Amino acid sequence: MDQPAELSIVEITPSAPVAALVHGWRAKCLQRLVRMDLPVPRSFAIPASAVRAIAAGRPLPAAELERLIAGTRGLVGVRPSAMDPEWGGPGTVLNVGMNAARHAELAQSLGVEAADALYRGFVQAYAIHVARLDPDMFSDPDATLADTLDSFQHETDEDFPQDPARQLVEVLRSMARAWEGPTARLLRQAKGAPADAPLGLVVQEMALALGPGVTGSGSIQFIDSLTGAPRITGRFRGQTQGSARRSDAETIYLTRDPRGLSLEEAAPAVFADLVRFGVAARERLKEEMQIEFVVADGHLSIIDAIRVQRSSRAAVRIAVGLARDGIIPPEQALMRVQPRALTDLLHHQVDPRAPRDIVTRGMPASPGAATGRIAFSAAAAQAAAARGEACVLVRRETLPEDIRGMHASVAVLTERGGMSSHAAVIARGLGLPCIVGASGIAIDPRARVMRAGDRLFREGEEITVDGTSGEVLAGAAAMLEPALDESFNQLLDWADAARSMKVRGNADTPEDARTARMFGAQGIGLVRTEHMFFDDERLPAMREMIFADRAEDRRLSLDRLLPMQRADFTALFRIMDGYPVTIRLFDPPLHEFLPHDREGMRELAESLDLPLSDVVRRVEALAEYNPMLGMRGVRLGITVPEIYEMQARAIFEAAVEVGRSGQGVVPEIMIPLVSAMREVELVRHRVEGIAAAVRAETRTEFDYRLGVMVETPRAALRAGDIAEHCAFLSFGTNDLTQMTYGLSRDDAARFMGSYVGQGVYAEDPFHILDREGVGELVLIGTGRARAHRPGITVAMCGEHAGNPESIAFCQRAGLDYVSCSPFRVPVARLAAAQEAIRQRLAESVGPESGLESGAGPDDWFGPGMKIR
Ligand code: PEP
Ligand code: MG
Repeated sequence: MDQPAELSIVEITPSAPVAALVHGWRAKCLQRLVRMDLPVPRSFAIPASAVRAIAAGRPLPAAELERLIAGTRGLVGVRPSAMDPEWGGPGTVLNVGMNAARHAELAQSLGVEAADALYRGFVQAYAIHVARLDPDMFSDPDATLADTLDSFQHETDEDFPQDPARQLVEVLRSMARAWEGPTARLLRQAKGAPADAPLGLVVQEMALALGPGVTGSGSIQFIDSLTGAPRITGRFRGQTQGSARRSDAETIYLTRDPRGLSLEEAAPAVFADLVRFGVAARERLKEEMQIEFVVADGHLSIIDAIRVQRSSRAAVRIAVGLARDGIIPPEQALMRVQPRALTDLLHHQVDPRAPRDIVTRGMPASPGAATGRIAFSAAAAQAAAARGEACVLVRRETLPEDIRGMHASVAVLTERGGMSSHAAVIARGLGLPCIVGASGIAIDPRARVMRAGDRLFREGEEITVDGTSGEVLAGAAAMLEPALDESFNQLLDWADAARSMKVRGNADTPEDARTARMFGAQGIGLVRTEHMFFDDERLPAMREMIFADRAEDRRLSLDRLLPMQRADFTALFRIMDGYPVTIRLFDPPLHEFLPHDREGMRELAESLDLPLSDVVRRVEALAEYNPMLGMRGVRLGITVPEIYEMQARAIFEAAVEVGRSGQGVVPEIMIPLVSAMREVELVRHRVEGIAAAVRAETRTEFDYRLGVMVETPRAALRAGDIAEHCAFLSFGTNDLTQMTYGLSRDDAARFMGSYVGQGVYAEDPFHILDREGVGELVLIGTGRARAHRPGITVAMCGEHAGNPESIAFCQRAGLDYVSCSPFRVPVARLAAAQEAIRQRLAESVGPESGLESGAGPDDWFGPGMKIR
């Protein structure tokens, strides 16, 4: 009887119907290697549908199993082949088919020791992964083959199965079931896999890595995983295959090395072939690949290839390198870099020109450099952070409970551990400079000292961790600003060419503005002016204004603030040099500027020369039950109009001053917390009056644009008539989320974990824009505003505007720009470009393409980005 096509096993030949979506990425990748004529052992792909059936208890149809057995000679290895390489899969099982008869044959051809090691290795793997026996019983490297077979018999009351077909069926079943298990499911879901992610399997004839001559297994890559620079790295282990090894097994270098023997010298032809294959694989697979290989008595087999693991920095350099070499188009390079990864490139570096007082060296586990005071425990690090001190967490090695200490530190240094140790992995995730395995230091946590040679460092002393070079330096080293290297700039130049939506920065200070410019912001989309009033110099005038009963007195206090505000705006306009600057008028409730304790009120009474009781009364009078829904934003602008008048005047006078020095500037004034059209009308009227006055006084013409911050649901719903009175709208999604959910942005963290954990909210809506609710208000507001005023500028400036998923939403919603914190500007530039590319692709291939707008970046073999 014919098998249903979806259960059919396919031999991986150049023309076989192998598809990543059916057979998984590994099967597809192997087919590409086969098409390149590389020496790949005979391989078969089992489709995901068949693997699912096996997991459900329906074994492979007999005919398929027979085909598999008949198609392979000797032993086989079984490897997982998920749809996405990042999703992992059950461990590979090698040498399936090994039994007494094969052992006898191999003892003849490869020698007894090799045959023993291969058989023992398979029995151990089978015992642990298939028979699910206690791993401790089968992990003794000194156990003989006879011991291992005895242990198996003892534990199962059965002899080790000798039938290769039965062995294969059992291995397939255990791998299929392992994929369905809860642990594997959770692990892959954490990497973005859907709950029902499919798994294919690959069955491949073994190329044996134990035997006479130059024989062994290894992996090679042609790029440095950390920096992305061209460099051959990897390993070659003679007489070793997985856990099976001969007593003379040894690791040798790949390339010529003064420290010892290398494959390049031992087998030059094999090495030359590997390099040739590496170059070809890069071009044909359009990726930097790590190639797994076996050498058997000088004969090379390529058994697998996977994408090279890479740091964020390397990801950018690799993608740009491939595009520059014409291997992929720039747009595809853009799709290959996770926008968030760019943040890692924005770190400080130790200035290479400055003197370096090197204390010791370790492994450079996470790039960037930082200076801080030594803290020998997580608690000490947290205490230092609470005091506002930068600290470096120095530990023998870190444990999960150190995570808070790591969060509180600017860098991490450990005595032990490797590139994938806890400290290294977590630090990379947090973007902290990190050095691990610094074996030249000896930490005494009780005495709270660290020795490095004859030098002694105590807790609290300053050191610098250079996570890029792996060097620990004494004291504070001179730093270079984050290295926006050539690849980074090239990628972002391509992003700028690919995107239509603009990106601005939120900036309140000249420093913020300069950072935003350095990162390519096309203007400032939000200046929160109230931050400027907390300054010691300004607070007294602000408080005086709050205490004034009459408008004239308020004006007198505000007159003292006017020159300071004008200087603030002048500085921002000059730095932004013609790019738009959106200044939001005063927003917070006034009570935020008043003291809340008795001592503070007493001091205030003294400085204002008022009785304490007056101050207390005033503070109490300004208190509100719900200040965030109270007298703030435009409500203050309407009821205490002098503040907005002063600010408008400062903005216009600054524009005139900057304009006179030849720099163009068109200030944008934004009104916060609007909920009714009349509010805009009233403020507009007053602002027009101030503009006319400043024009007359300075005899200078200037333009400005008035806009509204849409951060109440009502403003979004009434965006049509609000648009009549303004030139732009900017969604303030922090408040809009707060008000749409009726959820305090300052208190929600208390239960957000529980809400997200129980699936009440898919994500924290203050972190990732809620597309269904808040997003609908954004769409409604945008649509209604544009219907009334087609050319109106629509933007977003809440925190969401720096989040890649939310930026993708803004691009699809057709917003004109997003404005986010300066360090997120590069992320936003890339995220906006990626979504624009996705949109263009979806348009060109149509809705049937399976390319969901808003999906993550191309996953190498992902739909819509197929490599042929
Ligand atoms: C907002 O509400 O989204 C916003 C940008 O303003 P703020 O965070 O200052 O309230
Ligand atoms: Mg707001």
